Formats: sequence, C-alpha cells, structure tokens
Amino acid sequence: MVTEQWNVGDISITKVEEVAIWMPVEGLLRVLPAATRAEIERVDWLRPTYLNGDEVNGAVHSLLVETPTHRFVVDTGIGNGKKRMAPLFDNLDTDFMERFETVWRRDEVDGVLPTHLHVDHVGWNTTFDDGRWQPTFPNARYYFAREEYAHWKAFAQDPLAHQAYSEWGYSMVDAVAVFEDSLKPIEDAGLITWVEPGQVVVPGISLISTAGHTPGHVSVLVEDAGESAVITGDLLHSQVQIAQPGWSAEMDTDREEAARTRRNFLERFADTPTLVLGTHFGTPTAGHVVHDGDAFKFVPERG
Ligand SMILES: [Zn+2]
Repeated sequence: MVTEQWNVGDISITKVEEVAIWMPVEGLLRVLPAATRAEIERVDWLRPTYLNGDEVNGAVHSLLVETPTHRFVVDTGIGNGKKRMAPLFDNLDTDFMERFETVWRRDEVDGVLPTHLHVDHVGWNTTFDDGRWQPTFPNARYYFAREEYAHWKAFAQDPLAHQAYSEWGYSMVDAVAVFEDSLKPIEDAGLITWVEPGQVVVPGISLISTAGHTPGHVSVLVEDAGESAVITGDLLHSQVQIAQPGWSAEMDTDREEAARTRRNFLERFADTPTLVLGTHFGTPTAGHVVHDGDAFKFVPERG
C-alpha cells in the first residue's frame, strides 16, 4: 500500500512505510533527554495529528524520488532478518519489499541515497540471499557521504575506541553489525559512489550538510520547475523538535552541533514554499515550517 505521494515540478516523491510507531510520551522523553512532559503538552499544534492521547506519531519509511531521468531511494529502513540488540529493529519480517515493488521493481532503482548510515536508514541496502548479505538493488549506485562512511568503518574496526556510544540508545554492537551486513557488502560489490555535502547528485537532487546527528549527515533537497522539497533525515526525530529546536536526541553524535544545525535548517525553510518531509514523521509526513514566536510550528500537508 502506497501511503502518501507528492509532486515537485516533474519529480514525484512516494512514501513506502516500513513501520508506523505510535510511541508513548514516556518513550519520547528517553529519545529527547532535555524534554519534559509538561513542555511537550504545551505545544498545542501537535494535537491531535501528532500527539493523540498519550502517544506521539512516528515512523520508519523510504522515500522514492522519481526524476525525469532517475529513480532514487532515500533511506532504506531497517530491513528484514537483521540481528539487532534494539528490539524495535531486531529480526523484522515485514512485507515492505512487496509494497516497494508495487512502485518499482528493485532492479529499476538507479540510486540509493541514505541521509546517514544508522541502523534504520540502511537496512534494505542488502537482503540475505544464497547464504550471504547481497545488494538489494543490483543496478543501483549507492551514494554514500565519504565522511559518514569513513566514520562508521573506523567505528566497526575499533568499537572500543568509541566507548561513548555504549551510553546511548544506539548500541556499539548494532553499529558494528550494521556495518558488516548493510554497508560492507556494498563496498565489496563495488557499488559505492562517494558524495559530498553541497553536491548535486543528479539533476533535481542535491545534498545539504546537516551534521550533528552523525558526522556526515545530509538532508536531501529536491528541486524542479521552481518548486522544492527537502527530506530532513534525523536532524528532526519528532515534530516536537520544531517547537523546541534545542532538544537534541540521545543518539546525536554531537548534541550541540545538532541543535545549531536544526535551528539553521528551520530558519532556512520557515515561511518558504519548500515542502519539508520528515524522515521519522508518521502520516502526514510532509508539511511547511512557519515561524511561531521564538521557534517554529509545522503545518502538515497530506500527500
Ligand atoms: Zn533514524
């Protein structure tokens, strides 16, 4: 089932959801350590779309960007059958790929473009076939930010040198496993094309540096015929961070940088026609950022 679709000039963006997550506020407080329940409940525009009863709306999805010349997948979710410490990501068995293939066959994909290389953004890079993890999209180039890949490769080679990670929700064990089963097979197959923030990847698709959540994190700008949309990546995990840009996530590599990046991003796109698509926003996933006092609010636009 295709849940939402948007048009940017002659480019279409189609969402294929992997999992919808209605998370209790208590869970969100663990993701955003600076947040408090009282402050979340004061953000009146969250209700009822993004905060319903005691649950906040989230998701993991892929965004399929079709330009007149290329078919790109932005973020590939968690994947099936991957062994993870985090229960939310462990050994999934969803019909994501069947639903994906109602939009495109996997051999029709030209490019895979992750906003960053965390567990829930690279899972479907590979599928288990013939006794090993192999690229899911055989005819695609995988566009990895060089700095981001170097960071996680170094991490996987010497996780103890990155001890700080063990305090975070994103466990060291999972980061190593993600490298081994979802990133290294792509390098081994020779399918990586290195990209840099600021680069035009193909006509209509370019990258904005939004480091902080991870060192090489990018947001994806889609532009055609005077229209534009931007895919956030994890500079925003929750809609509430639009009202509270200072609330960084527990798993941000550099929380201060993440907060600066988030505020700059919101300032750049506030009160503009650019459609903002939240990488972890449940339905409705897209909308417009507008100024609201000292911060911002989100006006959803259903696809
Ligand atoms: Zn994520």
